[in-house]
Amino acid sequence: MNVLVLNCGSSSIKYQLLSMDAQPVILAKGIVEKIGLPCGNFTYKAEGRDKIAIEQPIADHSIGMDLILKTLVDPKLGVLRSLNEINAVGHCVAHGGEYFPESVKIDKEAKAKIKALGEIAPLHNPANLKGIETMEQLLPSVPQVAVFDTSFHQTLPKKAYIYGIPYEYYEKYGVRKYGFHGTSHKFVAEKACNLLGWDIRDKKIITCHLGNGASITAIDKGKSVDTSMGFTPVAGLVMGTRAGDLDLGALIYIAQKEKLDLNEINTLVNKKSGVQGISGVSSDFRELTTAWENGNERAQLALDVFAYHVKQYIGAYAAILNGVDLVIFTGGIGENDFYIREAVCENMEFLGIKLDKKINAVTRGADVTLSTPDAAIKVMTITTDEELVIAMETVRLSH
Ligand code: AMP
Repeated sequence: MNVLVLNCGSSSIKYQLLSMDAQPVILAKGIVEKIGLPCGNFTYKAEGRDKIAIEQPIADHSIGMDLILKTLVDPKLGVLRSLNEINAVGHCVAHGGEYFPESVKIDKEAKAKIKALGEIAPLHNPANLKGIETMEQLLPSVPQVAVFDTSFHQTLPKKAYIYGIPYEYYEKYGVRKYGFHGTSHKFVAEKACNLLGWDIRDKKIITCHLGNGASITAIDKGKSVDTSMGFTPVAGLVMGTRAGDLDLGALIYIAQKEKLDLNEINTLVNKKSGVQGISGVSSDFRELTTAWENGNERAQLALDVFAYHVKQYIGAYAAILNGVDLVIFTGGIGENDFYIREAVCENMEFLGIKLDKKINAVTRGADVTLSTPDAAIKVMTITTDEELVIAMETVRLSH
């Protein structure tokens, strides 16, 4: 069975075509970028072949999808004989609100709810829905499944998701903590337990998904009980360009001083903040590390602030969970950046965290135990694979 996995943003479409027979295999993958701009971008990498990149204007999502499908069946470049060989399509959908504690096969009702949730996720859900509707037109007889970034966190207890603001805003507008990256947090926790031969139902786990967007989740007996992102993905950790937790009074003060309107505040906290804002150098941790190695103090400060916040959340979630068996690092930074992992885990012996610094220093993009054998808490890097989860959910629900 072949599954096309799509992640549609407002101006991009990430795609992967996977064969899900026996062992999953990625047949082709790539990205369409800068949709609607004069200089569109299309990349395509088929299994065992070189990546190709084409620059051409891509007016809208439907043209972008059409380009992906045509390339997949192209006699020279393609990996399929015809589009009939695509058996199902899985969509990554950002916000499932309180409607979707699980993935769902797309029907009229599901689309209406995804559309309604565009109110609280205006940057993501409309683009996700556009992807679904475009695929319905291009592949009308193929089942489609939506996998939500929020679903895994629907098990949070109410005391963890209610904000300290008038309750009517929860009742009227659904303003509460939802959390994101759920697919990844669930996947790495289950994968680690499988590798360790553990039953997740006995375990207390803290998963640190540290990428451009970053979040931490407390998992008790396989269920998410708290997570650092909130109503939107701007909450929690300091991220690449997102502010994370912030004194709201400080934001009001800055807005008054700089005479910012709501759109500008939105841009400030989502696009100009985080390690980019602190360092003035970059949102990318590789570039920050290079700048730090070259003596840039603000790059070092940005890295220190990031690691400090991760450590704070680990401490908080150890308290919430009443103990921890396993801490997992994943995402581009979590899987690769040994400096950040070391800085996070430094001086945590009291809790039971003790890294083998030599193993940590050489671990990149692999499933590895980083803690010393005598440590009370296991620390691991686990590679995440959100597309694989979406493909597996799509297989499960599309029959
Ligand atoms: P993601 O959003 O999960 O793709 O993660 C992107 C982040 O991971 C960026 O800040 C990258 O700089 C960082 N990253 C990726 N590879 C490495 C690496 N080898 N060392 C340090 N950071 C990395």
